[in-house]
Amino acid sequence: MKRKKLILICIMALLQLSSCDKIASLFKKKSQDTEPKKQERVVTPSRPRTRVDTYGKPQLCIIIDDFGSFDNALLDDFCKIDPAVTFAIIPGLNYSRSSMQKAIKSGREVIVHIPMEAENSDVNPGNNAIRSNMSSVAIYNRVKEYFTELDQAIGANNHMGSKITANKELMRYSLRYLSEKNLLFVDSRTTANTVAREIATEMRVPFAERNIFLDAPDNTDAVLRERIKDLEKYKGNNGRVLVITHCFDNGRLQRLKTFIEEAKKMGFVLVPVSEYVKQEPIS
Ligand SMILES: [Zn+2]
Repeated sequence: MKRKKLILICIMALLQLSSCDKIASLFKKKSQDTEPKKQERVVTPSRPRTRVDTYGKPQLCIIIDDFGSFDNALLDDFCKIDPAVTFAIIPGLNYSRSSMQKAIKSGREVIVHIPMEAENSDVNPGNNAIRSNMSSVAIYNRVKEYFTELDQAIGANNHMGSKITANKELMRYSLRYLSEKNLLFVDSRTTANTVAREIATEMRVPFAERNIFLDAPDNTDAVLRERIKDLEKYKGNNGRVLVITHCFDNGRLQRLKTFIEEAKKMGFVLVPVSEYVKQEPIS
């Protein structure tokens, strides 16, 4: 009699376990429908070959935006510039991958230049951009695609994006993959209404933001002189400044070289973006 009872208890327990499994698998299926899958790939970040002593010196970080649409002598010339200068590459273009490979070979860090929707609907950020009508899962998966293609990138900044970076929800979706992978984000500040710093801080994404556009409003010697003068503002004690320029032509490359020379004369030390972000004061 006792044995029969024991067998019955065992059968009951087994039945219970199998139904638990069923419920668990149902739950798992449901959560997979709404949540993006866990990552299989681990990003191997590039590391610059140069290490710089920045103690007590003002720091200058430079990012060159918009690489990916050409692989020619101009790209090779850009690759000869100081290796602490970071390249921001637009994903999904004909030469995105080869630009990344050449940049890494030249000893520098690479970030994804994430195409994002702008307030002005006349400007086209590209077919593979982050758009305001996308779901959280679609945005997450698109960001993952960028980093799968540009697998040496250690972070990202935004290409255009005044509509996305001003929206808290959309920025949360956009930064989720970066947060999971400990990738950094630099706000290009294409709008004064940006919420990127707030959301990056909330999501613990290593963060910094642009202070100066070197080639805006246009790429001329007069603007260059103004920008060199602007550096004074950031010099101070342990000053920091993050400058963005673009890769479009040799004129920009030459002005960038002059800018770097002048900045060094003023005592600035050029630091790679990962180094710069590490020392960002916590807000
Ligand atoms: Zn851009």
